Parts: sequence; C-alpha cells; structure tokens
Amino acid sequence: MLDHMGYECVIRGGRVVTDGAVIEADIAISEGRIAALGQGLRGAEEIAAGGLIVTPGGVDPHCHIEQMSGMGLMNADSFETATRSAAMGGTTSVISFAAQARGQRLAEALADYAARARRGAAVDHAFHILLSDPGVPDFEADLRALIAAGHRSVKIFTTYAIKLEDAAILEILRITAAAGAIACVHAENDAIIAAARARLLAEGRDRPRDHAASRPPEAEIEAVARICRLAENARAPVMIFHVSTAGALAEIAAARRRGAPVWAETCPHYLFQTAEVLDRPGMEGAKWMCSPPQRGLDDQRALWAGLAAGDLQIVSSDHAPYRADETGKFVHGPRPPFPAIANGMPGLEVRLPLMFEAMAAGGRLGLSAFARIVSAAPAEIFGLPRKGRILPGHDADLVLWDPARVHVYGADDLHDNVGYNPWEGHRVRGWPVMVLLRGAPVMREGSYLGTPGAGRWLHRAALGADPADLTGAAR
Ligand SMILES: [Zn+2]
Repeated sequence: MLDHMGYECVIRGGRVVTDGAVIEADIAISEGRIAALGQGLRGAEEIAAGGLIVTPGGVDPHCHIEQMSGMGLMNADSFETATRSAAMGGTTSVISFAAQARGQRLAEALADYAARARRGAAVDHAFHILLSDPGVPDFEADLRALIAAGHRSVKIFTTYAIKLEDAAILEILRITAAAGAIACVHAENDAIIAAARARLLAEGRDRPRDHAASRPPEAEIEAVARICRLAENARAPVMIFHVSTAGALAEIAAARRRGAPVWAETCPHYLFQTAEVLDRPGMEGAKWMCSPPQRGLDDQRALWAGLAAGDLQIVSSDHAPYRADETGKFVHGPRPPFPAIANGMPGLEVRLPLMFEAMAAGGRLGLSAFARIVSAAPAEIFGLPRKGRILPGHDADLVLWDPARVHVYGADDLHDNVGYNPWEGHRVRGWPVMVLLRGAPVMREGSYLGTPGAGRWLHRAALGADPADLTGAAR
C-alpha cells in the first residue's frame, strides 16, 4: 500500500514475539520507533528476517557498572565496556546503581554517576539509587527530589558493610511508597552469615567452595520473609533481588497471596548452576563466587516453577564484573580466604542467549514467556513504558535470532572487561545475529556497531498512589 512506502526501515518476514503471541509479520520502523506491524510493509531500507525470530531488546534491571563495591573495589567494567557487552548479547536497556558513599549527599552521587554514563553508555540506561547512609543532611528531601526527577527505584542491603537495620529500612520504605518509587532489596540475614563465616574460618575452611556454606539458605529465607512483612506494613512496593532458594520463593509466594506489594527476580546462575561450580582446584572457584551463592537442583526446580507461576517476574544478570587477577578477585593476594574475595560474575552478555536456549529452544515456558521475563516485565516494573515490547509506538529495540545456530561459549569470548567467561563450555542453540537500539544496529553478525555515549538516559515517572498500577506483564 502506498502509504506504507515511507517507512525508514522494515524488518521483513520474521517470526515476531509480540505481547502474548508469536506472529509472522513485518516490522516498520520510523524515527527509532516501531511504526507498524503487518504484512507487505515496505521501507527505504529492508532487513530480511525470513527464518529468524524477532524479540524485544533485553531490559536488564540489575547490573553493576563502573561502581565501587562494598569492599571498596572498582568494577572491572566501565559504561563503555559493560554496554558493549550488553549490546553483543541482545540487551538494549540497563539499570545500574548510582551508589551513595557514606556521608555523601544523594544528589552528588547521582550527578557523578550520570556524567560517567553520558560519556560511555552505548545502550539506554537508568539508575537505581543505592542508599547506604540515610543519616546525611536532607536525606528525605533529596531522595524525594530525585524520585520526582525520574529515578523511581532505590536499592538497599540487609548485609555487607552497607547494611541497614529494620528501623532505617522502614523509614526508607515510608519515603519510597509516598514518593512513588520501588525499593530493590538484597535480602540476607547478616548475623546468620557472620556466625557461619566465623565457624567455617575457625575450622580452617576458607576456600572458595566454603563460600556457599557461609551463606546458608536460612539467611536468605529469614531476610526475605522480614522484608515482605516490612513492605506489607509500609504498603511499599518492593523488588526482592536475586532469589536463590525454594524457601525464600515460598515466602514471596505467600506474601503475594496476602496481597503484599512484592515482586521478585532470579538470575541465570541460580537457574543453571549449582554450588558445585565453586568446588574446583586451587582458587579457580573464585570466578563463580557470588552472593547469594549458587544452590542445589531442588532450588533450581523451584525457581523455574516460580517463573511459571508468576511469583518470580524477571530474570536479571546481576552483572558484577571483577577480573580474576590482582585488580579484582585477588586484590588481597593470590590465595585469600573466601571473605576477602570480591563477589560477582559477568552476566550482561549471556543472559538472553542462556534464557533463549532454555525457554525457546529447550521449550521451557516458551517464547512469549521469554520475552516477558527478560524484557516486558522489567520494563513495566521499573517504569520504562517504551521499552520491552514489540508494539507500535515502542522504541525499535529488537533482537533477531537464528533459532538453529549453535554456540559453545569459550574461555574469554565476552565483550566486557572481565577476562573470563563463567559459562565456558556451555552450549546454546539459538543465537542473536542482529541487535537494534532505537532502529540502529548495535550488533550485526558478531560485529559491534555501538557508539559510546549514544545510549540515552531513561526518565522513569513515579508510580501512582496504588502499586496495583503494576499490572499486565508484572502480575
Ligand atoms: Zn547485584
């Protein structure tokens, strides 16, 4: 039809994963947005997608980029390297952490971090405000102002040096609920961890494999149960980050049945790895150390059931990049006891292929659920209304997959700055062959086409008064 001739670009003949359906359709793109879905669309530029599957670009709402760790260690990834890695794996929006240092004003933490992102980010981005010190002057006024300025999420911890006690958590939840933000929580009981760690070290058990025993399931279960009750009491929307155990998931499911405003994520390393990854010769296991640690097969099964039931809504990477050398994991020497080893693994680039392999190629839950869990639900929960869906009016953030292509990950084949791949040897079927950000290719056939600084900051409007505003993908 004549009035369809004017599209800038059309992706022709792919199997397109739109909201709740997989359809054969052309996707027309104009000015960076999806202009139309239909048959026989024509454009000035056309991309043949016959035989390919088209999904929304990934939205990864949990990644540590250019951030100082709780141990005072800088991440291995700058915005430039982290977002290059994201784009190569099909992720076109990231939410990382603008971390408040002790004693630092929130506005100052945000301004510094936003400047780094503006210079380096090649994909679109937003920030959770990481709250470590509610005792600074004008804390509440600054937090409210930042939420009103488009930052509608915060992050708090119940463990590590930056842990907050219940009274401070309740106070923050009062503010976030009133201002229309969601609070993301790293929930593990710090006292249980401290006691377990002391016991292990007294027994001479200080290797990477002992890390798992130092953070027992009860630590997560207790803190998750408590956070759910605090959220309920404060009527404050909460996102429980990186759920790893069947027991914590059961607490979340029960809280949601009571109507608590609680959402939850898990990560690929809890779905596909067990604590065995830590049990390797020498210090090798340090590469897989993260918190909470990987668990057992029963927990994996429960987490998949939680995704199927909707009690877990999203799968994020928890990308936490440290090199396996003296700048990262071994900053305290070549054979440090496990408490001195930085926690975290790279994950931005592998999240989508791993989930695509399991859900699309492997048949777990299917393609529509894949698109919801890695794109639509995180976009909705965290306030990115133009992201995460293939529908007219949305940003043309797209991934073209060859469903037949097989890839086996190598030792150091990711595009971050970490230098190892914790998924080495893992085989995936289904591989991204092209990634578009607002209509512009950022990856094509394994070549990186992104530009540092081309990513945009995403303003996120505050939630309405009723957290039940979060419906659709998020429920
Ligand atoms: Zn994290």
